[in-house]
Amino acid sequence: MHGVTLKDVNSVLCLGAHADDIEIGCGGSLLQMIDANPHLHVHWYVFSGDSKRKQEAISSAERFVSGAQKTTITTFDFRDSFFPDQWSQIKTCVADIANNIKPDLIFTHRHNDRHQDHRVMSELTWCAFRNHLILEYEIPKYEGDLGNPNWYMPISKRYCGKKITNLLDCFESQLDKPWFDAELFRSLMRLRGSECNSSSRYAEAFHCRKATLDFLP
Ligand SMILES: [Zn+2]
Repeated sequence: MHGVTLKDVNSVLCLGAHADDIEIGCGGSLLQMIDANPHLHVHWYVFSGDSKRKQEAISSAERFVSGAQKTTITTFDFRDSFFPDQWSQIKTCVADIANNIKPDLIFTHRHNDRHQDHRVMSELTWCAFRNHLILEYEIPKYEGDLGNPNWYMPISKRYCGKKITNLLDCFESQLDKPWFDAELFRSLMRLRGSECNSSSRYAEAFHCRKATLDFLP
C-alpha cells in the first residue's frame, strides 16, 4: 500500500497501563521511528506496576528508546486491574501530562479493548488530548478482542526481531505466562503485515478514530 510519511513527527507520547503494553503495542514502530528521526523526543509513561514490574518497565523502555535524542520515562503507582476505581486520580495525572507536553503523535490503548485498565487509559487520553493525532495500539489477550485496525506501520524484519528480543530479555516476570512468547508477537505482526501488503511481511496495526490531512503551512 502507498502511505503517508511521519516526517513531521518530532515528539511522540506513549501511554501504557502496564509495564509491557507500549512495547507490545507499538515497540516496533518506535524502534523504526527513532532510527529514522535522530531528533525524536519520546515521552514514555507507564501507569502501574509493583517494584519488579516497574524495574522491568524502565529497563525495557531505556532499551527501546536508546537511540532517541531526548527521552522521558515515567512510571506511576496506580493499582493494576483496578483503574476504573481510580478514574479521577488517573484523569488528573493524564491532564497534568497534557498540560506539559504537546506531542505530534500519541500512542495509547484501544477504546474498546476488553481489559478495563486499557479502556480507562484510552478514554482519558481522548479526554485530555483534543488536538492531537492519536493512534490506538492493540494487545493480544485471552479475551480475544482483536478487531479490524485501519492504520498500519510496516515493520522491517530487523525491528520485528529486535522488538521480540527486547520483550523476552526485559520482562522475565512474564515468561511463565503462556501467551508471552516470540511466536505470538511475531504471528500478530505477520498477520498485520499481510493485511497492509508490507514488503517485509510484518507490521504493527492501530486504530485511528480521526485524523486530518493538512495542506496549509
Ligand atoms: Zn496491559
